[in-house]
Amino acid sequence: MTDWTPTRAEGERILQAFIPRMGRRYAGGRNTDHGPGAHKAVSVLSPYIRRRLVLEADVVAAALAAHGPEDAEKFVQEVIWRGYFKGWMERRPQVWQSYRSGLEGDLAALDRDRRLRRDVQRAMDGQTGLDCFDAWAAELVETGYLHNHARMWFASIWIFTLGLPWRLGADFFYRHLLDGDAASNTLGWRWVAGLHTRGKPYPADAQNIATFTAGRFTPRFAARPAPPPRDRAEAGPPDRASDHG
Ligand SMILES: Cc1cc2nc3c(=O)[nH]c(=O)nc-3n(C[C@H](O)[C@H](O)[C@H](O)COP(=O)(O)OP(=O)(O)OC[C@H]3O[C@@H](n4cnc5c(N)ncnc54)[C@H](O)[C@@H]3O)c2cc1C
Repeated sequence: MTDWTPTRAEGERILQAFIPRMGRRYAGGRNTDHGPGAHKAVSVLSPYIRRRLVLEADVVAAALAAHGPEDAEKFVQEVIWRGYFKGWMERRPQVWQSYRSGLEGDLAALDRDRRLRRDVQRAMDGQTGLDCFDAWAAELVETGYLHNHARMWFASIWIFTLGLPWRLGADFFYRHLLDGDAASNTLGWRWVAGLHTRGKPYPADAQNIATFTAGRFTPRFAARPAPPPRDRAEAGPPDRASDHG
């Protein structure tokens, strides 16, 4: 995705159009990934929020004004995850440093290990043979966006089904996402890997994918019985809520 110019006017237009859907419709529909060109149940505002073209305070105020605190609760909670991740990372710069140095090591391993290089390339090219995963890889590269649930499934399959190093997956996201954000992306991947909520990885489930992709996929795969990755940087809190999405 090369020819995308973010503007405040476009962010404001998307915000205004999404306000009627920030209430119960969001809470009921946000988990379903309808695929490229059909992400109507979520706002797709993240590239604008990431660049400060649309502010968190403004989207929260709009949701509360239109729907009230009860019906807007889910949308407001999701916006607040962004601030939570930013604050958590700012207080722990060693987590970002550890990610960067670990990524350098993983990239060096790619040079040495031909099989790993082939497997990572297949995953990034959407050539694994697992339909849903391959479709998300293509959507990410072509559009610069993935639904939140797809990000969780993709990261989980990358780590636990394909057995690939998590930082290489995080780097693939970071390079292609229009909303690529050091805190939300790195901590999202760490959360899936079981590094953020200690010992609690996120297992992608084939039935869950079938249910929440609106009939687009009926995958069959098994997670490898691999232990969660290890990381030298500080782990997250032991008792965070298990659903961060
Ligand atoms: C592995 C992984 C990597 C991710 N990488 C990024 C990233 O690089 N940049 C990024 O902005 N988000 C990231 N997220 C969080 C989330 O997937 C996106 O913010 C969301 O999908 C953006 O789509 P939207 O604007 O349609 O969201 P909506 O559902 O419309 O939510 C409104 C806004 O709230 C914020 N938000 C929503 N959900 C989350 C969440 N779970 N965590 C943090 N903020 C959230 C975003 O700013 C979003 O624009 C990641 C999640 C995972 C699991």
